[in-house]
Amino acid sequence: MTPPPITIDLAYRGIPEAAASFLFRTEDGPVLVESGPSSTLPTLQAALVAASVDPTSIRAVILTHIHLDHAGAAGWFADHGADVHVHPFGVRHLADPAKLNASARRIYGDALDHLFGEMHACPANRIHPSEDGEVVRYGRHEFTAIETPGHARHHHAWSIPLDDGRTCFTGDVAGMRVPGTDHPILPLAPPEFDPDAWNASLDRIDALGFDSLQLTHFGRVDDPGAHLERVRAQLAWETALAIRLVDDAAIDQPQRVAAYRADLHARAAANGVPVAARTTYLDDGGISMNLGGVKRYLKTSRSEPTKADHGSTGVFPTN
Ligand SMILES: [Zn+2]
Repeated sequence: MTPPPITIDLAYRGIPEAAASFLFRTEDGPVLVESGPSSTLPTLQAALVAASVDPTSIRAVILTHIHLDHAGAAGWFADHGADVHVHPFGVRHLADPAKLNASARRIYGDALDHLFGEMHACPANRIHPSEDGEVVRYGRHEFTAIETPGHARHHHAWSIPLDDGRTCFTGDVAGMRVPGTDHPILPLAPPEFDPDAWNASLDRIDALGFDSLQLTHFGRVDDPGAHLERVRAQLAWETALAIRLVDDAAIDQPQRVAAYRADLHARAAANGVPVAARTTYLDDGGISMNLGGVKRYLKTSRSEPTKADHGSTGVFPTN
């Protein structure tokens, strides 16, 4: 028996369906996919207790990547004996998050504490780097790592066969989704956003023919092919828009942000996203972050052949 996971709404910043952690009860003990940020650890702990799971009994935490909203709280579970599975590029920042936390603190200042909280360090002996294709087993549950760069270089999706079909935990590579709609939102996060790599990752997931996807932001998708097609279209449209604005020397940054926001809202409105949901889910920091991600991508891609070094994992931002 491998029933579907319990999807835990972390109520990130008090917003429903903004960030998830997923719980499996395996024969080897409870396993989480994504820990969420440190700021929602009390919510996650309470949800586990409500599901009759002692938070200190979590056997493993499987991470898609180490941005704060996915992995910030993993170290707390590792401190209590959980094994943590992560892309090899993420290992050193989990073991020693001082640089990551300092960089997040520089960006967010005091707001970091209520936004994400700092990354909790993982004991090094609890961290298990997973290569592409590696299978992690707990009881009858077999999680397979699928390297899926584009949002971040150190990004894995994780596939698992379940009683109701094959599903895939897509982290951020299959985008986010405004609750109650089909509309995708994309975190084009610096410093590792790469639209070509992202498209290749979408193709890779699509080709695997999953029965469902599980989005960290947020929840189960039952039409993977159609969803991935919407993400592809949004990625192409939004990258082109951001490049045009970043390259427009005639406007200043506030004008750039305003223009980007107006176009994002118009597209979401055309896809049936009500104004309240647009304000809640589109405006939240992602607009200037996305412009920063595209700016960084252009700088890197236009300075070929001096590519950014591959071992260095971007430590922020956090989506
Ligand atoms: Zn995220």
